[in-house]
Amino acid sequence: MKKIFFLLFLLPNLLFAQDLTYARYIIDTLASPAFHGRGYSFSADSLAADFLAKELKKNRIKPIETDYYQTFKINSNVFQGNMFVAFDKNELVAGQDYIVDSKMNSVNGSFKVFTIDKKIAFNEKKVKKIFDGDLSEAFILIDTVGTKGVLNDYYLKLVYYGYYNVAGIITVSDNLTYVPSQVNGGRSHIILKRDALPEKIKKIKVDIDAVLKTDYVTRNVIGYIRGQVDSFLLITAHYDHLGTMGTNVFFPGAHDNASGCAMVMSLAKYFGDIRSIPHYNLVFVFFSGEEIGLVGSKFFTENPPFELSKIRFVLNLDMMGSGDEGVRIVNSTIFTDEYELMLDINREYELLPQIKKRGAAKNSDHYYFYENGVPSFFVYSLGDYKEYHNIYDTRENIPLPGFSGMYMLFRVFMQKLHTI
Ligand SMILES: [Zn+2]
Repeated sequence: MKKIFFLLFLLPNLLFAQDLTYARYIIDTLASPAFHGRGYSFSADSLAADFLAKELKKNRIKPIETDYYQTFKINSNVFQGNMFVAFDKNELVAGQDYIVDSKMNSVNGSFKVFTIDKKIAFNEKKVKKIFDGDLSEAFILIDTVGTKGVLNDYYLKLVYYGYYNVAGIITVSDNLTYVPSQVNGGRSHIILKRDALPEKIKKIKVDIDAVLKTDYVTRNVIGYIRGQVDSFLLITAHYDHLGTMGTNVFFPGAHDNASGCAMVMSLAKYFGDIRSIPHYNLVFVFFSGEEIGLVGSKFFTENPPFELSKIRFVLNLDMMGSGDEGVRIVNSTIFTDEYELMLDINREYELLPQIKKRGAAKNSDHYYFYENGVPSFFVYSLGDYKEYHNIYDTRENIPLPGFSGMYMLFRVFMQKLHTI
């Protein structure tokens, strides 16, 4: 009796070392410079998809159809050429000092910079008076730090609906958070980090290449283990991230979401290794097109390889790199039996400090499943790690304090789901 207890107690820790090594390998690969931030420049999405399919094969996971891929098309405004910005003679560092607005157009040249107070930004008369008319060969700089909500929307309008006929706009922010775009807004907009803002700027020299890729072909990656019943359990994570800003700077996305891919692949490896047939058909899905608007998972729900009504549950994992403060589960207030199961497992194995509740939210790939009546969770880790959609979300920075606990939680959940 004592022996059994001891073994059970040790189990999570024993698995810890083993699975973390494999998880690290997946994260280190996907977040490496060779994978260019897993966007739609330098065929990065395709490299990542091929890597994941190869790993599935190694783990003895079969494709659900003839191959591992589900192909679909997206539009994306990408930056895969020149990326140069200098104020007077000081060159700025992309990603660190500034990011480009993902909707921006190409721009090349030297321009005068006019700084205007945000209070008068919408008073065209006043602005024109100050700068004596013509702004077509100028950038305007507006210190937008602390600007939120409606006012922020006004600044975006200023940029995209051409409130002034300017060559470009620079706004200022405390945080550089990149969000990719499916469109090109036809304007030039640079977002400058507050501490990179000099006291005075006279001129900006800028050379940025933007390309709007339309009908770009990208792929979801799908693996499958046949179960005992005609019902499916999906374990999903998006592998795409934000891509590149020029040829040298990329968004590694270690936490978002190389870590989720590592979790799904670790679970695939486990179920591929064991000989017993699982209760449900297990489907491991790696989505593309998440960051650009949940495009890959939407496509999956519109073109499912099996009837959506046969899906017992979707467990979507996004941002698994933290976890020292546990996890939060979107849809846990809706699917309360499954949430109770998570709590029970966590209590029994003492895995995570807490499992927090949350209602429905359109913030990851579970969303279109939920909208189509498929029971689903989106789980994300909570904790100290704060790098998000920036160049610092690297494989070196990502701590993985809760990874082994979450791994055990999901693994046991997958095995026990049919008992409730
Ligand atoms: Zn994500």
